[in-house]
Amino acid sequence: ATPLAIVVGVGRAAEKGLLIKNPEAIEKALRAKFVAFDKTGTLTAGAPKVVKYVGDEHALALAASAEAKSSHPIGVAVVEFAIKRGAKLAEPEAYDTFPGMGVYAKVNGAVVGIGNEKLVEGMGAEIPGEIRREAERYRAEGYTVAYIVVDGRVRGFVVVGDEIRQEARDVVERLKRWGYQPVIISGDHEVAVAKVAERLGIGKYYGGKTPDEKAEIVKELRKEGGVIFIGDGINDAPALASADMGIAVATGTEVAKEAGDVVVRRGDLSKVAEFIDISRKIMKNAK
Ligand code: ADP
Ligand code: MG
Repeated sequence: ATPLAIVVGVGRAAEKGLLIKNPEAIEKALRAKFVAFDKTGTLTAGAPKVVKYVGDEHALALAASAEAKSSHPIGVAVVEFAIKRGAKLAEPEAYDTFPGMGVYAKVNGAVVGIGNEKLVEGMGAEIPGEIRREAERYRAEGYTVAYIVVDGRVRGFVVVGDEIRQEARDVVERLKRWGYQPVIISGDHEVAVAKVAERLGIGKYYGGKTPDEKAEIVKELRKEGGVIFIGDGINDAPALASADMGIAVATGTEVAKEAGDVVVRRGDLSKVAEFIDISRKIMKNAK
């Protein structure tokens, strides 16, 4: 494209709430084969709610105390839910977050963790068969499950529901029409990811991936063709950085804004389709 066409295009994009930090992104977007989406906070609204809790109040209060330090949407949901139920949160003596897995803390002398299977295993705990079976039922419906571990024992789980963004289906359909292959790369459990993929008509998806594994998959896909990665930046900064082009939806963190070539303000996914549409028009004008 001529520089002028690109400058004009960047200006027009900005009016639409798209911050194009890297003008080369426009050409890269058009050459891409895959459009890979993060799930939580990107295809879904990112404001999940706890729809069910299985466990005792004490374990919930401990888990919420740990999550109070987390900026992850699941953490925010757990804290809100626990406070509504009257839980008294305590200040953790220690805290650590394991991206793509969950959080760990020491609260009132107890060792507390909340997160997925990987976190449970990492804490040396086992999920009793009965609890696992119950959790699986929610997962099969597309919910996310986070187990609570206290002093090495699984004490319960929260079921978190996150609505698919209303514009997501339309965006996926437009991308397909333009010849891109949509993909989901998520840290959430494969079963929950499959449900979201099915609802959106996305045939290719990966679940249970850590932030680094997400980046690895992006690199693998790049062997087959260009990859646009779209994420909210919570746990997906490495994938954003590994893609030919990273698009950060702006409910995301500062990390995402650093990593993305394009930043979509106000987290509206339809802006992603608009960006590609604008890019197509710019390139046409430049020819
Ligand atoms: P996604 O790729 O769908 O955006 P993430 O990589 O952010 O998902 O997280 C992957 C999984 O790790 C979540 O589905 C959840 O099981 C677990 N997890 C991550 N952070 C937390 C947290 N703060 N509390 C509980 N579980 C968490
Ligand atoms: Mg996410």
